[in-house]
Amino acid sequence: MPTESTNPEINVSDIVLYINCPRKVYFVSRGFELLPEINALRLERMLLKELSLTYPEIVKECSLNADNLCKELEISLAQTYRDLPIMFPRELAGIAKEILDEGEVRARAKIPEIAANLLSALEEYGKDPMLAALTPVKTEPFLSSGKLNLKGVPSKLVCFEGTQVPSIIKSGNCPEQGVWASDRIHAAALILLLEAENGKEVPFAFVEYVSFGLLRKVIIRSSDRREVLQIGRNVEKIKAGFMPGRKEDKSCKECNFLEHCIPGSSLMSKFF
Ligand code: SF4
Repeated sequence: MPTESTNPEINVSDIVLYINCPRKVYFVSRGFELLPEINALRLERMLLKELSLTYPEIVKECSLNADNLCKELEISLAQTYRDLPIMFPRELAGIAKEILDEGEVRARAKIPEIAANLLSALEEYGKDPMLAALTPVKTEPFLSSGKLNLKGVPSKLVCFEGTQVPSIIKSGNCPEQGVWASDRIHAAALILLLEAENGKEVPFAFVEYVSFGLLRKVIIRSSDRREVLQIGRNVEKIKAGFMPGRKEDKSCKECNFLEHCIPGSSLMSKFF
């Protein structure tokens, strides 16, 4: 009988972080805080993510033209803005009202583009398929597999063409076509977990780019599955104490681990 892994437990978020930078996995696994302070950009993204959860209700209820859609999205955003401090009391504790307001203004500025893209997808694919792809049958379900030594929480599960598939909400930029390579691997990791849970193949996932109102279907290949498994093994080694090399690219400048990561820093001197 196969034995389950006794290695450090891997989360899908570790795999996503590894793609961003393997060394970040090392710092986070040692208790360093990953997310920077809340600023207007982060608030904008939090608001747009929450707003996207109201799309199904809006699409179901509203007669579909650009004006109506914009109006309904604006009403929903105003409600989301009021609800946000109740939903995230720890994250938003002590945040200045000006920053909250700036986040709201930034999110509101995205609404015309979101409405236009939603409307064009509704015209192209039809209301029922869009509703099926957007409406969660479960929101943020916890998935885990001892065999894969992996756990994770998709933004939602939706039932599309009779199959339950994961859907990931992304609040950052959106590629011209398809999904970013990192989002493909994120989707593949969640698919592996859902297959382990349900015991049947899950052929695709959705990625919602909520700052643009775009929904993309991503079909997973064997090479994506292979990459998830390989990254999982690398993450296990990092969590067990292996420090990977520095990535050293332009994203290092924005990284909040930079002061600990550069050679000669007090943390690095403990290792070298
Ligand atoms: S500074 Fe660069 S190499 Fe170091 S953790 Fe950040 S992104 Fe990775």
